[in-house]
Amino acid sequence: MNNRFIIVCPKCQQDNGFDKLSNRPAACKNCGAALADSLPAEKQKTPVGIIITNQESNDNFILKFFELAFFGREHMGKTLFRPHVEISRRHFLIKLSKNQYYIQDLGSMAGTFFELDGTQTDCKEPVPLVDGGTIILGKDRFTVNIQY
Ligand SMILES: [Zn+2]
Repeated sequence: MNNRFIIVCPKCQQDNGFDKLSNRPAACKNCGAALADSLPAEKQKTPVGIIITNQESNDNFILKFFELAFFGREHMGKTLFRPHVEISRRHFLIKLSKNQYYIQDLGSMAGTFFELDGTQTDCKEPVPLVDGGTIILGKDRFTVNIQY
């Protein structure tokens, strides 16, 4: 089957692929959770990179064509982090899996949160990055733009 669309399971983050909208699955093939009609069915597309922008300074950081990247005081993105923020040496990572970027905290002091539509999710477990969402580290906020 040629999976032209995907629905990401809200419970286990599994990509549920299908070929046409009339074959939209009602339940996750991995965990069995219901896939509500309100969940977006997105066209399968491969992200080619990501732009992370500090919402206060407007400094941004562009990553192209990566599968795994570490962020922190001694890693990529360090120019985005203001000195007063409690940023750990290895604070969080972003990885690409099945056409989806995920963010995960690396046991940092301040933690890593992802905010979408006013809801914050703790990134202790991998959390799917959504275009237009916000990464929160302490008091600093960073807009995520996914490039396709
Ligand atoms: Zn599931």
